[in-house]
Amino acid sequence: MNKDYYKILNINRGATKDEVKKSFRTLSKQHHPDKGGDENLFKQMSEAYDVLSNDNKRREYDTRGQNPFHHQGGGGSNMDDLFNQFFRNQPNQHRQQDNVGRSLNIPLSITLDDVFFGATKRLKYSRHINCLSCHGFGGTTQICPACTGRGFHERMVGNAFIRQIRKELCNTCAGAGNMITNTCNTCNGKAQNKVDAFIDFAIPTNLMPGQSFTFRNMGDESPKSQPGHLTVQVMVETHKVFKLIGKDLIYEPEINFVDVILGGKIVIPYFNTNLNIDIPPFSEVGQDFIVRGKGMPRSNEIDGNIVVQPIIKTPIKLNNRETELLNSLKEEENFKREI
Ligand SMILES: [Zn+2]
Ligand SMILES: [Zn+2]
Repeated sequence: MNKDYYKILNINRGATKDEVKKSFRTLSKQHHPDKGGDENLFKQMSEAYDVLSNDNKRREYDTRGQNPFHHQGGGGSNMDDLFNQFFRNQPNQHRQQDNVGRSLNIPLSITLDDVFFGATKRLKYSRHINCLSCHGFGGTTQICPACTGRGFHERMVGNAFIRQIRKELCNTCAGAGNMITNTCNTCNGKAQNKVDAFIDFAIPTNLMPGQSFTFRNMGDESPKSQPGHLTVQVMVETHKVFKLIGKDLIYEPEINFVDVILGGKIVIPYFNTNLNIDIPPFSEVGQDFIVRGKGMPRSNEIDGNIVVQPIIKTPIKLNNRETELLNSLKEEENFKREI
C-alpha cells in the first residue's frame, strides 16, 4: 500500500505532469509485459502513473502517503488501458471494443463524521467474472469445422460483370469460430460466474456531496473483451446538526429576539466537542455569523467555515410577568412606536 510512486517512476517529488508522463512513457516501453517486461513491475508503474498524473489523486497521495483510490485485487488501474493511451496507433492493436463487460453502479451512504474524520469503507458488491475453470470459454472448445474458426463463410455473388465476395455468418458456431464440446460444470456453459467482490474506498478529504468515483475495470468482466467499470456514487447522509454546502457547514440555531438585541452565547455541537460563539448585541435579523476554518478540513486549500444562520423564534405564549414586562417596554424610549 505505501509504495513510493515517485521512486517507481524514477522522478523527484516536484516533477511536473509532463515529466510524469514522459517517464511513464519511457519506462512502460521498456517494461510492458507484451514486450517481455515484468508484469508486476509494470502494474506498479501503471498504478503510480494513474495517481501522479491526476491532480486530485496526487494531492491525496502526497498528504496521506498512499493511494486513496487503491482497491483490492489489482493495481490502481488497468495497465492495458494506460498503455493504450500512449500507443493507440500501434499496428499490433487487436483489442476488441465491443462485448465490453457491463459497468456497475453502487451507492455508498456515508456520514458527515466519516468525511470530517476520514474513513475507509469496505464495499461489497456482486460482479461477473470469467469462469476460472473454463477460462471464460464455457467448456472445452474445438475450432468450428464448418468455418475453420473464422466465424463466417465467404460466398461469391454477382454476375458475369460484377462479382463480390459476401461474408455470411457461420450458422454452425453462430460466428464464434469455435464450438463447445464439453460444457463446463462450474458455469454451466455461461463462461462466467457471479462472485462477491470488495473494494476499500478511502473517503477523500475534499469530497463533495453527490460526487461519484469510477474504478476502471472493476465492473463485470467480459469473456471477449475488457471489463466494465465500477462507479461508486457517494451520498452524505443528512446530519443532525449541520448542512453541508461545498466545504462549509451550515448551522441554524434557534434564538429569540432578545438575543438579537442584547447578544448572547451559542453552543454549537461540533462533532465530538462543543464550540462556543458569541452573538454580538444589536445584530441584524437574517445576519450570518462565520466561524472561520471550522468547516470541512481540506489538505491543500483553506478549510471550510461554519456559517451560523440563526432562526429567530418568537414565543407563542407568555406568562403574566412576561406580558407585563413587554407592555412596559413599549412605553420606553427605544420601543415607542410612532403611530
Ligand atoms: Zn466455466
Ligand atoms: Zn463456424
